[in-house]
Amino acid sequence: MRVSFLLLLFATASLLACPVSSALALQPPAEEKPAEQKPAEKKPAEKKPAEEKPAEQDDAKPAELDPAKYPKLPKVGADNSGAIAGLPWRVHDIYRPRPAQVTPGEVDLNKGQGTTAPSDAIVLFDGTDLSAWAHIRGGDQLYKPRWKVENGYMEVVGGTGSLHTIDTFGSCQLHIEWSSPEPARGASQGRGNSGIKLFNVYEVQVLDSFDNFTYADGQAGAIYGQFPPEVNAARQPGQWQTYDILFRAPEFTDGKVTRPAVITVLHNGVMIHHARELKGVARAGRSPVYSAHPPAGHIMLQDHGNPVRYRNIWIRPL
Ligand code: MG
Repeated sequence: MRVSFLLLLFATASLLACPVSSALALQPPAEEKPAEQKPAEKKPAEKKPAEEKPAEQDDAKPAELDPAKYPKLPKVGADNSGAIAGLPWRVHDIYRPRPAQVTPGEVDLNKGQGTTAPSDAIVLFDGTDLSAWAHIRGGDQLYKPRWKVENGYMEVVGGTGSLHTIDTFGSCQLHIEWSSPEPARGASQGRGNSGIKLFNVYEVQVLDSFDNFTYADGQAGAIYGQFPPEVNAARQPGQWQTYDILFRAPEFTDGKVTRPAVITVLHNGVMIHHARELKGVARAGRSPVYSAHPPAGHIMLQDHGNPVRYRNIWIRPL
């Protein structure tokens, strides 16, 4: 009986103790949670300094952006938003000049693999005549082109000399299409060699690089003597290929380069150079170096003795 009584007492005490102890154990964390949430309520107060920042940026906005100095425009955008660091414009600025309207070219496979010229481009060759081109000898003597023009393309006539644009260009976007001779003849640098030389000197190599082993910085798309293309995107000889070139002309001060040339090239739509900084002018077997020149120069199509064809050439000065 005593044992039973003691067990009953123990069991009763346990039943009473458990809820009490559980309640005691759970209560403190439950009470702490609201306390933890309090700092979260302070966050809005922390945002205040962030709201002040746009005001500081606005102070940096140049005074000449007085709306009175700008033509009346539909109020599309904002005139009280934050300034964009380093620019004289606010975010979505209603006074910021809109880009000019340009009608893009169209894909016309009779005229080219890429698009025809956009409305603001200068057409250098539309497949009919070489009026924008000349052989240049003696520095400034122009001679009538002796390359072949037929079926919408021009073709190098070996030995007649390279062709140059009569006009000069600086920084530009250049679209040009070319085709290597078919059937392929020769090997390495002797197969379908030509080239596009900006300022007559910075060459984007034209070569039949379809199954044609040569040195890396001399294959199709190479910045000749400096940089191989990132990949070999060459098509078979006889097929039309495209180069889309973005070129930033170098700048010189007192005969020394102060801003090197930068080039981006797409070959058949594939990036092969992106913002590549040129080392200078390639020289046969010697290190490339810059040689000061005016801010605009002729663009040359190279006569390397092979009957390479060109068509659909247009340029947008930048
Ligand atoms: Mg070449």
